[in-house]
Amino acid sequence: MAASIIQLLPDHVANQIAAGEVVQRPASVVKELLENAVDAKSSDIKLIVKEAGKTLVQVIDNGLGMNTTDARLCFERHATSKIRKAEDLFDLHTKGFRGEALASIAAIAHVELKTKQDQEELGTHIVIEGSKLVTQDVAVLPKGTSFAVKNLFFNIPARRNFLKSETVEFRHVMDEFQRVAMAHPSISFTLIHNGSELYNLPSSNYRQRIVNIFGGKTNEKLVPVSEETELITISGFVGKPEFAKKSRGEQFFFVNDRYIKSAYLHHAIMSAYDGLLKEGNQPSYFLYLQVPPHTIDINIHPTKTEIKFDDEHSLYAILRSAVKHSLGQFNVAPVLDFERDANLDTPYEYKNREADFPTIQVDSNFNPFATEKSSSKPLSSFGSYKKETTTASWESLYVGLKQDTQEIESFSFESEEVTSKLFDDDVIETKTTSTYQIHKKYIVSAIKSGMLVIDQGRAHQRVLYEQFLTNITVQKASSQQLLFPLELYFSSDEMILLKELQSSLENTGFVFDAFNADSIQVSGLPIGMAESEVSIVLEELIGNLQNEIPESSFSQSDSIAKSMAKSMAVKTGTYLTEKEQENLVNSLFACKEPNVSPFQKPTFITLTVEDLDKKFAI
Ligand code: ADP
Ligand code: MG
Repeated sequence: MAASIIQLLPDHVANQIAAGEVVQRPASVVKELLENAVDAKSSDIKLIVKEAGKTLVQVIDNGLGMNTTDARLCFERHATSKIRKAEDLFDLHTKGFRGEALASIAAIAHVELKTKQDQEELGTHIVIEGSKLVTQDVAVLPKGTSFAVKNLFFNIPARRNFLKSETVEFRHVMDEFQRVAMAHPSISFTLIHNGSELYNLPSSNYRQRIVNIFGGKTNEKLVPVSEETELITISGFVGKPEFAKKSRGEQFFFVNDRYIKSAYLHHAIMSAYDGLLKEGNQPSYFLYLQVPPHTIDINIHPTKTEIKFDDEHSLYAILRSAVKHSLGQFNVAPVLDFERDANLDTPYEYKNREADFPTIQVDSNFNPFATEKSSSKPLSSFGSYKKETTTASWESLYVGLKQDTQEIESFSFESEEVTSKLFDDDVIETKTTSTYQIHKKYIVSAIKSGMLVIDQGRAHQRVLYEQFLTNITVQKASSQQLLFPLELYFSSDEMILLKELQSSLENTGFVFDAFNADSIQVSGLPIGMAESEVSIVLEELIGNLQNEIPESSFSQSDSIAKSMAKSMAVKTGTYLTEKEQENLVNSLFACKEPNVSPFQKPTFITLTVEDLDKKFAI
């Protein structure tokens, strides 16, 4: 008989393998340690992180603590105080239960544990490195537990090298911190990163906790949801539809105080918003579901962020109708106005704002008999979101075909500084042939071989994109000074991102006077950006970048340029004067890649004379 070849793996190897499932990155350690602190009935939890957790993740709690034996045992695999028998799996009231987190973490890091129970005189101090006990002493300690996890993946260089940039890793850390903090508003939480305090969340209620995390402006956006049935109790908040954003930032489900992901329940929410959202917009939601523990299975995934519900279909229906009800009851639906002019909003506070100079706008083109006011907008609102209703009648076919459209005379003092560079006089005037705007969407121009049809929005995106990219990477743009600095408010994580982007944004022409804890002061804008656009452009930028944090600095510049180009480009429905049309066409063809928008969509098409001949040949 040949020798047996199967062996049992030593514990430290088994632990390292298990760690691969539980600990993907520093944020995984954050999650496990925070959850343990919550399970230990703490009322105050501190998270201290260095270099996005690569060098240190420490959690200090004031919970139950452990006695000396438990302090040693907690690092063993399958060592848990939370369940005793298989049936307990169906009646879980704690975050942890698998008893493998600490064993896994200790296998791949340097861990220092200090813990003391309330009734004891002295506590226990243990150091473990790569599953090996280094020291164990008694020590004078406060009540509670501190776990410090240093040098994560010190013995698995491949994993360590696989970690992303500090920004990306820290984003994950923040996500975990926020999720646990949102699920437990009665516990106070602090987050300190590289020595600076980013969050100090006092014990409060759900609403206040959400506002403390996402910024004061969140409060007015929330609509409460509440529903109680035998199957499920729902509480929490959904965002008013008009505040929905392009990004999927603030969407949270908590089931029995545990953050979970569920595409299915997400769908239920989206269908409750049916007809209330602009295409592609995402509402925020913070929903807390309580279900009987035996109706869910949490143990289907090592990180426990996906769970299985017994009766998913009913939950779907209840959730959907509860959200629908709230949106209706709080009169959210009828006041919707998607076409509202962003220029009329002042979403920021004017600091020391004095009275405006009166402005006179003379529309020399006004024709009381025309069905459509074709030149009702001054140049300054170029690039806004304003949409005018398109006339359905046959006359609309001729809109914009008038040969000698006169310039709008605008005596607005503000319009001086917000005139887009695209339309400055110094753009080379190479008027070769006339251009026409049709349906406030396309610009048509004759060329040698036939005709050119340009999509104005995409063309402008291309022009702005190349301009911003150049500004960020090669040559800083000049900026337009504001008479009165603007103060714009953001949440803490938005502020972190903005700081990260500060120098790139300054290259595009932004001038920042101050970065405060929850606001920035802007005193200069990129040329061509209207004051009323600033907060929208920045919010969209943050939304876009939060969704997909760029890895390299080039892709960061690229993302900024793309996002700003998209936000600032003229939209379909904007009337362009003939001069503006020409400038746009000229600027487009001066681009490096005129054929496609920054999002790789065609900017123009050509119709040759043959194409046209063919159409007439029938
Ligand atoms: P689990 O949380 O699944 O039980 P862990 O490996 O995370 O497994 O923790 C093992 C055990 O260590 C826990 O069951 C608990 O008894 C103890 N423990 C861990 N962290 C703490 C803490 N912060 N305070 C008190 N006890 C703790
Ligand atoms: Mg645990």
